[in-house]
Parts: sequence; C-alpha cells; structure tokens
Amino acid sequence: MMYEIASVQKLKALMKEYFLSLEHSDKKIAWCTSVGPAELLRSFGFEVYFPENHGALLGASRLATECIPSAIKAGYSGHVCSYTTADIGAYLNKSTPLTRQYGLKEIPRPDLIVYNTNQCREVQDWFNFFAAEFNCPIAGIHSPRHMDEVSPEEVAVVVSQHKQLIPACEKASGRKFDIDAFRECIRLSREASELWQKVLQTAATSPAPISFFDGVIHMGPIVVLRGTEKATGYYRTLLHELEENIRQHRGLLREEKCRIFWDGMPIWGRIRMLSDLFLQNGAAVVASTYCNSWVFDEFDERHPFESSALAYTKIFINRSEKAKMRMLGSWLKEYRCDGIIYHDTKTCFNNSNAKFGMPQRLRQQTGIPCLIVEGDLCDLRFFSEGQSITRIETFIEQLEETKIKA
Ligand code: SF4
Repeated sequence: MMYEIASVQKLKALMKEYFLSLEHSDKKIAWCTSVGPAELLRSFGFEVYFPENHGALLGASRLATECIPSAIKAGYSGHVCSYTTADIGAYLNKSTPLTRQYGLKEIPRPDLIVYNTNQCREVQDWFNFFAAEFNCPIAGIHSPRHMDEVSPEEVAVVVSQHKQLIPACEKASGRKFDIDAFRECIRLSREASELWQKVLQTAATSPAPISFFDGVIHMGPIVVLRGTEKATGYYRTLLHELEENIRQHRGLLREEKCRIFWDGMPIWGRIRMLSDLFLQNGAAVVASTYCNSWVFDEFDERHPFESSALAYTKIFINRSEKAKMRMLGSWLKEYRCDGIIYHDTKTCFNNSNAKFGMPQRLRQQTGIPCLIVEGDLCDLRFFSEGQSITRIETFIEQLEETKIKA
C-alpha cells in the first residue's frame, strides 16, 4: 500500500479556513514577508497575508507561466525573483489560484504592508509595487545581512526597527500596542516552531516518515499561521502521526538506497514529479535548508523584541558562507545524508548556494557527493526536465554504488 500522511486532510481544511478568513473576516489585513515580523502584526489583531505563499501557489498551480509575461511587459525583468514577477503578473491579469482553490474573489487588500529584507532586497521592490497600487502604508525592517555570527549590536539595530513599526501598526489597526499580546504571539510561534522542528527531525530515522516534498506542503501553517493556536494544534497532530509511523516502521520507502539533502528553493511546478522520481529510484530526500528556514529556536516571550530580532536575523539565508557551511555540515550529519542536491534557482540568487563554489568546498570538507540541478521556483522555462531527470537518476546510482563499495 502506498505510504501517505493522513494529516494532509486536516492541513487542507486548515489552509482553507485561513484563506477564507482573509476574505470574510472584519479584521484589518497586514501583508508580511514570509520571515517578517508576523508576531508583532498579529498582536495588533491583523489577519496576516503572505505574498510569498501566493507566489508558491502560483508556481505549484503553474499559473505563474501565464502571469510572468505580464510583469515583464510592465518592466520587471524575467531574471528577477519569479515570486515577484508571478505575483505582480497575476495582479495585472486579475487572476489568482485562490479563486479556484478556495473561492476567493481576489487577493486580500492590505491595510498595512510590512517587509523584512533579511531574506533579500527584492521583497522591498515587490511590496512597494503593491503599496503604490493599493495606496497603502508600507514599512520595512532593513536587517544587517550575511553575518557569520549575529552580534548584540546588530540585534539592537533590528530591535529598534521593530519598535519603529509600532506607530504604523497602531494607526492601521486602530489598536494600541499591547506587550502581553505580543508576548503571547511569540510564545505560540516558539511552540509551533519547536513542533515543526520535531516534525522535520522525524526524517532522521529510517525509513523516513516525511520527505522534503511533503515538508513543503506541510510547512503551510508555520509560514501563514505561526503565532496562533491553529499552527501549534496542527503540528501536534502531524507529529503524533509521524511518531506513530516510526513506531510501526512505516515510511516513504521500505528500503532507502540512499538519503539526500535538498538545498535551495522547491521547483513548485514539479513537486509531484520530483517526489515520484526520487521514490521510484529508492532515494529518500530527507531534509532541506528550505523547510528548516522556519525553525526559530530563539523566540522567547520574556524578551519579545530581542528574541524575535535575533531569530529573524539568524536565519540561514541571511548568513555568511562560513556559517552556512557549518549549518549544512551539521544537517548532513543529523539526517545521515549520502548526497546533497543544490537547486541552482535561476531567479533567486539569495536562496541559491551553488553559484560561488560552495558545493565544491563543502564536498572537500565533508566528502559527501553533490549534484547541481538548474531550475527555478516558479519559472519553468529555466527547468530542463528530461535532462534533470537523467542527471538525478545517474546521481542516485552513483550514491548507491559508493555505499555498496563502502
Ligand atoms: S528570497 Fe528569493 S524567492 Fe524569496 S522573495 Fe527573495 S528573491 Fe524571491
């Protein structure tokens, strides 16, 4: 019988409820970047909407293919972030996958737009487009970038930028800042984040009960609902199911010929195809930088500003090569990976680690073989499917041979 994660039904219902609440609730709406200050926004009672999540849906539904050209016509390069071009193109085309999937008329209109450049500067241009379109107030956190370690001085800069958001939040929400509400959102986010980390860590066992390709679906709540009871409730259910599967030795594969780490963005329009490809070849893709990017173990409600500033500045994408190699090395060990695949994402320099020789350096350091696959998060013109399949299959064979010889 094919292995399936039953909690996906609960996930679907939860995501539906979330999207419907964006259209039907009388709460104010704040837009936020995926690793932006969602807890602060929630503490003002905003419903929080994440355009990157919409970008992922555009990619997964492949609507992105018809939206990107409209953004290019409007002056956006086809070589910049395809979340940005897909999302702007979808707006210009007056289309959204939310209509077909959840019955929403359109994307939710923002009362406030907030971004954090901890992941990239592209979000600033992207969100400014919508601020102008909706004549909506916009505010940003401009984080220090690419650090080896995050210093207390750098945290202090980000703390003060968080605090500077408060007047804009008060004005747009009509509520005064409430430190206790903020603490509670941080507490809930920490809980959800800890549970999400445990979910991911179940894949350290063999047979792994969850893959990277499942992870990108099940991460929905940690992105769009962190800071709420709903996210923690969901991850408790999912974790319970996966732990039970481990007890019964149920997992993705009966026999794992090899275990692989995925670095970089998902190729949203080919998730199912890739998932099947690896499983058919006996390979379990057990961990990723992407899914681990929503593990915020620094959140501490006793120090809500400092801990969220630290958590959001320390994320993988915002670190130096040295720090990234350290983190990757430790994940490769933790998940007992035999190989690593780097997705060289054409339109996202920020989340591609294959452009400046790091794969070769990490291979030298760890001895773990790697493969670079060229592709993109949303723009399938940059993904050569036939060629990639052949290269992935050859890579899996090589990993297996190496294991047999060892
Ligand atoms: S990190 Fe990459 S994919 Fe994400 S918004 Fe920035 S440029 Fe786009």
